[in-house]
Amino acid sequence: MDRRANLVTMLPDAPDYPLRLTIDSAALVANWRALDRLSGSAVAAAAVKADAYGLGARRVVPLLHDAGCQTFYVAHWAEAAELADLVPPESLVVLHGPMDGRDAAFAQASGIKPVINSLHQARLWLEAGGGSCDLMVDTGMNRIGIAMGDLGDPLIARLAIDTLHSHLASADEQSPLNEVQRKRWLDARGQIAHRRAALANSAGIALGAGYHGDITRPGLALYGGVPAAGLAGHICQVAIPQARLIQCRSLQAGDTVGYNATFTAQGPLEIGVVSLGYADGFLRCWSGLGAMHAGGATLPVLGRVSMDMTAIDLTAAPHLAEGDWVSVEYSLPEASAISGLSQYELLTSLGRRFQR
Ligand SMILES: *Cc1c(COP(=O)(O)O)cnc(C)c1O
Repeated sequence: MDRRANLVTMLPDAPDYPLRLTIDSAALVANWRALDRLSGSAVAAAAVKADAYGLGARRVVPLLHDAGCQTFYVAHWAEAAELADLVPPESLVVLHGPMDGRDAAFAQASGIKPVINSLHQARLWLEAGGGSCDLMVDTGMNRIGIAMGDLGDPLIARLAIDTLHSHLASADEQSPLNEVQRKRWLDARGQIAHRRAALANSAGIALGAGYHGDITRPGLALYGGVPAAGLAGHICQVAIPQARLIQCRSLQAGDTVGYNATFTAQGPLEIGVVSLGYADGFLRCWSGLGAMHAGGATLPVLGRVSMDMTAIDLTAAPHLAEGDWVSVEYSLPEASAISGLSQYELLTSLGRRFQR
């Protein structure tokens, strides 16, 4: 036998990473229910692309499905395949649609539903056998979706369209573009046979009933993001990054901390070094900003964030010792205001070393 394989089989289970992303399942479900309620006569679906924005789609999808969510949006076929054993195939919808015949054949064989975004995709889908699909119409974002001018194409008339979608570019702002897009979406609805219509992401839900259609597509707000003032008070924090202390040390006045010595102690100071760094998505923009928590104590970040480590001030929790866990202050609206990162980036940049 290969000696290396032999050695691997003799090893005990490896210790866990000293990083975990704690998910509050009740808060996740409560957020979906709140968004479903705020969607009025429309039903809320769930955007679970990018591994449910980094929270872990295999965990999130069954929780929301049990709560009553019937439709889950991913970007890629590979993402849908990873969820296919958890929910009925027709409840999984691939936003990017088929890029080639292989994607279309996979959709046909699996029953996972494509969103058709172009005449090319319409042709691929019909050549593969057709059947129920969604259609994305571009109403002004110029990202993906069929152009308004192509709606009259005979290929589109041959599609069996379940949900006619469009997507808002500026739902999180008071922008005249919202109303322009909504009018074009209504125009498209008048031109194309469809069973249901959808326009709103999380922020779009807060724009009111005219934007709701039959189904809404929240993502960020499910996971604790507040992209529009109208959602504040309805949405709870879901994800809390936590990490363990590798070391505690005592500084004297004049001692500095970390790369480039950007923090200098003004007097005696107890500090801790947390096993979390920019390789985990706790980016360098947090250097000298933000805080961690232990119990009720607030522990400010000191100096530069390193690749695998971040120093914190332990003054408020002097009892903490090596191996203890601390929680990162990561309420998304506040964390975004402090760090300058978007609420979306704060979630999706959290790395693979977190146990989810
Ligand atoms: C990602 C996505 C959503 C969810 O958007 P949030 O702003 O996270 O609520 C909705 N619709 C489409 C087409 C998307 O790509």
